[in-house]
Amino acid sequence: MSNRPLRVWLALGLLTVVVYFLLPPHHWYGDLVYEVIGVMSSAVIVAGVRRHRPARQRIWYCIAVGQLIWVLGDMTFTVYNYVLHREPFPSPADGFYLGAYPVVIAGLFILVRGRTSGRDRAGLIDACIVATGLGLLCWAFLMRPIVEDSSLSPVAGVISLAYPALDVVMIAMIARLFTGPGARTPSYRFLMAAAVLMAGSDIIFSVLTAFFSYQGGAVDVGWLLSYLMWGAAALHPSMRSLSEPATDLVARLTRPRLALLAAASLLAPGLLLVQGLHDPRHVDWIANGVGAVVLFLLVLVRMSGLVSQVQEQAVRDELTRLGNRRLLHRHTEEALGRLAPDTVHVALIDLDDFKTVNDRLGHHVGDDLLTAVAARLTEVTDPGTVVVRLGGDEFAMLLAPASLSEADATVRRVAEELRRPLHAGEHELLMRASIGVTDAIDAQEPRELLRRADVAMYAAKDQGKQRVARYESQMDLHSVEEARLGAQLRHAIDAGEMHLVYQPIVELPHGGIVGTEALVRWQHPEHGVVSPGLFIPVAERNGLIVPLGDWILREACRQASLWQDTPGAQNLRRISVNVSARQLREPDFAATVAGILRDNGLEPSRLVVEVTETAVFDGGAALDSVWALHRLGVTIALDDFGTGHSSLGLLRTCPTDILKVDKSFVDEVGDGGDQDVIAAALIQIASGLHLQAIAEGVETCAQAEHLHRLGYRYAQGYYFARPMPATAIIELLRATTPRVTGSLLAPSP
Ligand code: C2E
Ligand code: MG
Ligand code: MG
Repeated sequence: MSNRPLRVWLALGLLTVVVYFLLPPHHWYGDLVYEVIGVMSSAVIVAGVRRHRPARQRIWYCIAVGQLIWVLGDMTFTVYNYVLHREPFPSPADGFYLGAYPVVIAGLFILVRGRTSGRDRAGLIDACIVATGLGLLCWAFLMRPIVEDSSLSPVAGVISLAYPALDVVMIAMIARLFTGPGARTPSYRFLMAAAVLMAGSDIIFSVLTAFFSYQGGAVDVGWLLSYLMWGAAALHPSMRSLSEPATDLVARLTRPRLALLAAASLLAPGLLLVQGLHDPRHVDWIANGVGAVVLFLLVLVRMSGLVSQVQEQAVRDELTRLGNRRLLHRHTEEALGRLAPDTVHVALIDLDDFKTVNDRLGHHVGDDLLTAVAARLTEVTDPGTVVVRLGGDEFAMLLAPASLSEADATVRRVAEELRRPLHAGEHELLMRASIGVTDAIDAQEPRELLRRADVAMYAAKDQGKQRVARYESQMDLHSVEEARLGAQLRHAIDAGEMHLVYQPIVELPHGGIVGTEALVRWQHPEHGVVSPGLFIPVAERNGLIVPLGDWILREACRQASLWQDTPGAQNLRRISVNVSARQLREPDFAATVAGILRDNGLEPSRLVVEVTETAVFDGGAALDSVWALHRLGVTIALDDFGTGHSSLGLLRTCPTDILKVDKSFVDEVGDGGDQDVIAAALIQIASGLHLQAIAEGVETCAQAEHLHRLGYRYAQGYYFARPMPATAIIELLRATTPRVTGSLLAPSP
């Protein structure tokens, strides 16, 4: 209790309680002390509200006003007793007393509403069970004797009944606060203590006066302490959050709670038993019967709530607490029945390389990663979206009803958000996801929607950078298509349908050409030029990349050696060739490369082998090949740098000469966003480690200038030159030679 006013109040209060008991009983000044504490308690509550400025101040004002009314009752009583020397019953004092309760109860009611935000049905039922059980006791021992007492006038009878009745309501409020959710802060505990003391003292008083000729005294402690506690609750700083809605609204059926409910529901039969044993003629059949039925019904409702809780469990994913496949199925079915099919969109999200993370960093990191992805997905989608985990590293979403373009925008945003680093264990992981999305046009079944999203997701995986794809019906032909493409590809190399184009790599700021990257093109007899983004993945899957890659390497090296001997082309110091993981895993790959270099009389350092981070991430044979190439003197470039995971860690294990900074960082350079910071950080790292950095995909002059300012010395992109045939490179070289000495960034002609 770091709170000074609170300590002072409790100390003073306790002192006054002691003084009250030292004073001779049945004297007016004793009553005065008692009343002073009551008034002070009200004042302290108001002071607490002023000091802490909680939300829902009405709660506290109700309690303070209730106390004051109560004190007025006491004062009236005192006046009758010591001034008028009369003790009428009922007296105006009873009016005040009975008026005080509803005000306090109203305050507690507002408090309950705030803490539960009107939900938590299970807690409400639990409170009803407890209140009914205790209410039954009150009826049997306090209220029934009054009803049966024929000596009381009707008015006196009603007033006598009102006291225990109001206490039962008070108990209900206490039970509700107790069974409800929300933090058990010190303020909460003080308040509960106050309420329990108040109702408890009332009941003890009633019992004592009814069954023993009690004259007042000891029970006053309870009321006095209750005054203190109300004040203390208002003085503690945690009162500010007392009426805040709880975040966890699921009332768990813990063991103590189960025991409480069992005890409460046993009160009715227990009472019956006691009465029956005591005097079988005096059993209160009606009250016990009604009580038992009410309790039974309440327990029944609670059970059905429990059943739906269990059902709820059945649609949850253990690990991430997201929904599971069943939940998605249920919601999709419901959406299909209710909404226009072009507004129902299902997306399937698959993490690329999750398995690698799991294998290399351990399952707990993998689990953390999945949880982090789940959190990210919920965070970035609006509440109408159903996000589930299908299992493994697969997630799915049923989007809130949306048009095609809205849905696509959402999916793209999700893909982008997933590329931000994710916390897992002590690691910051950069992940990439492939997302397939589909609408429900011509699909009647949730299962069909998922199948389509799955097909689209696989198409997305083959799409390189922006791994998002929307389902198209021709994708169903995909597997057939892929087999056909594979067959055609086999034929293509021999038929001479493959050729290479070369994209200049330039030096900043003047734009002079310092090398080229060889990029393969397929001149398809029917489809025209097919981009490598389409057929390289196919070639990787069916293994054709090995002969194709071999051809590419030979062709590129042949071209490089030609340029070596061409006057004016010596500036083309280096030729970069993309090599895929599958090629690297070939035994003796390095030896093959050495042979090709020898055949063409090319110095090893003039060949740059571009590998992607993912190709060498797993270590193993691929990384061994890279090391062998490195020992050979071949230059190694990490392609698409920054898009895989553990990019930086790779720099220690993989012998790297060049970083090709991915286009995604270049795209936003100068925007002042995250990517900008990354582009700036990457150049620092590169120069710190004495690596060359090449900015990929530079499309505008502004980007080029900004990159140069950040410290980039090399770049590649459409702004300087597009990939072009070898002959065009020579022409370009001749055309730009005069400008090489210039200091301005030279745009492509
Ligand atoms: P990459 O190695 O990162 O190659 C760069 C890609 O970006 C090329 O696409 C290039 O044309 C494109 N690009 C260059 N500047 C710009 C620009 O300013 N804006 C935009 N939007 N794009 C630009 P391409 O030729 O379609 O190649 C795509 C990917 O296919 C390559 O990415 C590489 O991973 C793979 N690939 C291409 N040729 C080969 C090859 O001969 N062997 C292997 N194994 N893979 C290849
Ligand atoms: Mg490349
Ligand atoms: Mg690249």
